[in-house]
Amino acid sequence: MTYDVLIVGGGITGCMTAYRLSGYRLRVAVAEATGDVAMGATKANSAIVHAGYDAVPGTLKAKYNVAGCAEMPELARLLDVPYNNCGSLVCAFSEDDMPALRELLERGEKNGVPGLEIVSGERARELEPALSEEIYAALWAPTAGIVCPYELCIAAGETAARNGCDFYFNFPVERIRAADGHLVAESRGREISARFVVNAAGAHSAELAVKSGDLDFPVEIIPRRGEYGLLDKGKGPRVRRVVFACPTERGKGILVSPTVDGNVIVGPNAHRVESADDTSTTSEGIEEVFEGGRRLVPGVSPRDMITSFAGVRATPSTGDFYVRPSERVSGLLHLVGIESPGLAASPALSRAAVELLGEMGLHLEENPDAVMERPPVVRFRLLRASEKNELIKRDPSYGRIVCRCETITEGEILDAIRRPLGARDIDMVKRRVRAGMGRCQGGFCSPRVAELLAKELGISLGEVTKKGCGSELVPRDCERDGELIV
Ligand SMILES: Cc1cc2nc3c(=O)[nH]c(=O)nc-3n(C[C@H](O)[C@H](O)[C@H](O)COP(=O)(O)OP(=O)(O)OC[C@H]3O[C@@H](n4cnc5c(N)ncnc54)[C@H](O)[C@@H]3O)c2cc1C
Repeated sequence: MTYDVLIVGGGITGCMTAYRLSGYRLRVAVAEATGDVAMGATKANSAIVHAGYDAVPGTLKAKYNVAGCAEMPELARLLDVPYNNCGSLVCAFSEDDMPALRELLERGEKNGVPGLEIVSGERARELEPALSEEIYAALWAPTAGIVCPYELCIAAGETAARNGCDFYFNFPVERIRAADGHLVAESRGREISARFVVNAAGAHSAELAVKSGDLDFPVEIIPRRGEYGLLDKGKGPRVRRVVFACPTERGKGILVSPTVDGNVIVGPNAHRVESADDTSTTSEGIEEVFEGGRRLVPGVSPRDMITSFAGVRATPSTGDFYVRPSERVSGLLHLVGIESPGLAASPALSRAAVELLGEMGLHLEENPDAVMERPPVVRFRLLRASEKNELIKRDPSYGRIVCRCETITEGEILDAIRRPLGARDIDMVKRRVRAGMGRCQGGFCSPRVAELLAKELGISLGEVTKKGCGSELVPRDCERDGELIV
């Protein structure tokens, strides 16, 4: 069959576009190289819904960031994803930093960011008591917020899937070629046909454009890795707002921020890497981010860190998002160079993608049967005692706690496996319901999660993996990409 639209890449850009398109009478599919959505930059970033003062006025980054930030609270409500409008502070340490702060204020005002204000160090510490005494002044952005980036992506993908969007996992698109009035995405001898293709392949998007015939593609992606430390809940200083240092030419700089789940993150640094898939962390990198973090919030310490992680920025050589139809391949739309603020911008960027597809000839007729709201997810830990008791009476699986660090019940894990785009390995369960996200990092609950996966998926315990083929809990041979992994 030929789809109306095929989206290459299941990150926030691709899944949010699939979500938007799933509201129309269209056959839509997503082809994702890995085994799950949100496995690229969307999995490992600062999770900030930036207010929009950082992007240069007149750029697509500025336009989509401000509009995306404004829409995020309602979108998070529709998709039942936690969102916190905590606001952000960009901190100046002395009069020397003030020109940078004033420039951000000016940019923000030009970009239409509401409520921006330069406040004194004293006022900044009232807003965020954990802030260093060294802070001289700060840019306060009350519209900034935080969200869980992979949960937002999973929720958008799940809702698109409920509306009939097909997902092809482990389908790394090698190239897109034109054939008889439509396009064909090729992957290791397999093919998907579509009238329109959206290139949302993150750090690999420029490479895909070139391989698909855009030989003089004007954007190069420079992969830049950012490392983070995640602190144990209740350890170290309690941070309520996003706290940045002044930005540098390498990015927004190191920040200290709460997460929607009650942890604190410190990071990221910014270093160019050879491979767009290099998400390793280094002890020097972690030292660097904590040194930067301590200047803003004294007391953040690697001693309280429960894990480290890294994400790779798809930095475009042009400095801005590239959101345009291909000049060479008819029907191909590029969403390339979606670095920060790509998460914050995703609600608006995905709307723009749909609009462009319409201009390219895609017939957009709303589907009255499409449901754009995600059925609520049970978060047992957040319920009142009476609600917990009621739920357990209805379904006793909610009375069995599997992950003690995060208080995640068997009922929540079963739901995560049974939903559309459901979990098929231990890390997929972790990203959907937080089982294994706490202090023990899955040390205690993984065996029970594996048992539940085996039973629900009808496979043996030996076939359950941590994160796909090659990560079986019990060593065994398996095949990945046609190659035998022993
Ligand atoms: C360190 C860091 C901090 C950041 N902080 C923030 C922040 O606080 N706020 C904010 O707004 N933004 C932030 N960002 C940016 C944000 O994370 C990205 O803009 C956003 O996640 C990009 O989403 P995407 O879907 O375009 O790319 P990705 O999430 O990378 O998704 C691309 C997907 O395409 C798949 N893929 C690649 N090639 C192929 C292929 N050939 N065939 C099939 N599939 C393919 C990949 O597997 C991946 O799943 C940050 C990024 C980083 C790295």
